[in-house]
Amino acid sequence: MDIDLARAWVQAIATAVDQHKDQLTQLDSAIGDADHGVNMHRGFSAVTTALEGVEPDTVGALLVKAGTTLISSVGGASGPLYGGAFRAIGKMLDAPKATPGEFAHALAAGLDSIKKLGAASPGDKTMIDAYAPALASFQQQADAGADLAAAALAAADAAEDGMRATTPLQARKGRASYLGARSVGHQDPGAASTALIFRALAETAV
Ligand code: ADP
Ligand code: MG
Ligand code: MG
Repeated sequence: MDIDLARAWVQAIATAVDQHKDQLTQLDSAIGDADHGVNMHRGFSAVTTALEGVEPDTVGALLVKAGTTLISSVGGASGPLYGGAFRAIGKMLDAPKATPGEFAHALAAGLDSIKKLGAASPGDKTMIDAYAPALASFQQQADAGADLAAAALAAADAAEDGMRATTPLQARKGRASYLGARSVGHQDPGAASTALIFRALAETAV
């Protein structure tokens, strides 16, 4: 991972969110308040603008700026959760380049940030159910000596599997938890956006 790739990743997320905005909002209309696509779109549009003309010295500086922008531009739960995650990832990457192993550690710090802020665990039907398996696959690949592209591809596949596996779960955190058993049978919107984030990494890292 280097600065150009980090920028391309964030831009690819913005494009994916733009393309899937209605789908994310539709998922959120079933078990939430129908704003997840709007929230993500507002956030990543703001990130794109915030990074224009900015020439950071480290991968981390770029990702911290992306995270800070998400926190300040998104009103919903996903803003502070993703914003905090990008800030935590960035804080681990204090150099112009990172190895797959270093990037895996940074991604782990991002997940820790989400868990700490949202107090959710795997199985609660949140973004964590896509992020945790994605991280595990990325880490496994990095430990086995894979390059970023291969690790990111495995992570994206695992994130999508995790996303699909949220459908039969009952939500225990966030707005969807207010529905109790009626949250069963719907895919979690945040897990869907997390899958987009890891797919964007895989498509950028080729
Ligand atoms: P809001 O629920 O405030 O309208 P969004 O619709 O943008 O915010 O985001 C909803 C998503 O945020 C959920 O689908 C879920 O994945 C995630 N989420 C909500 N609460 C938590 C939490 N406590 N921990 C982790 N993820 C959460
Ligand atoms: Mg919502
Ligand atoms: Mg909302």
